[in-house]
Amino acid sequence: MATKCLQCGHTMTTRRQNVSYDASGLPGVTLAGIEVSHCAHCGEHEVAIPRIAGLHRVMAHAVIRKSSRPTPAEIRFLRRTLGWSGSSAKP
Ligand SMILES: [Zn+2]
Repeated sequence: MATKCLQCGHTMTTRRQNVSYDASGLPGVTLAGIEVSHCAHCGEHEVAIPRIAGLHRVMAHAVIRKSSRPTPAEIRFLRRTLGWSGSSAKP
């Protein structure tokens, strides 16, 4: 199914590629085989990240399982993803 460019309406080309996912808040995360649509007409591109909630959970577990101490960025990511709070006690 062809994707239309939101900017100019031309048909976009979709390819699977590895995408750097710094937007997650975790530095150095690369997602493999993500669908990226690219418009040859105006240069617009769209990244389709599937099942983002599940993806964040998988990333959170990877952070928890690693043996080294989590970095501040990783702790912030865990708090955001798992709903951890920095201050309040458990209900
Ligand atoms: Zn375009």
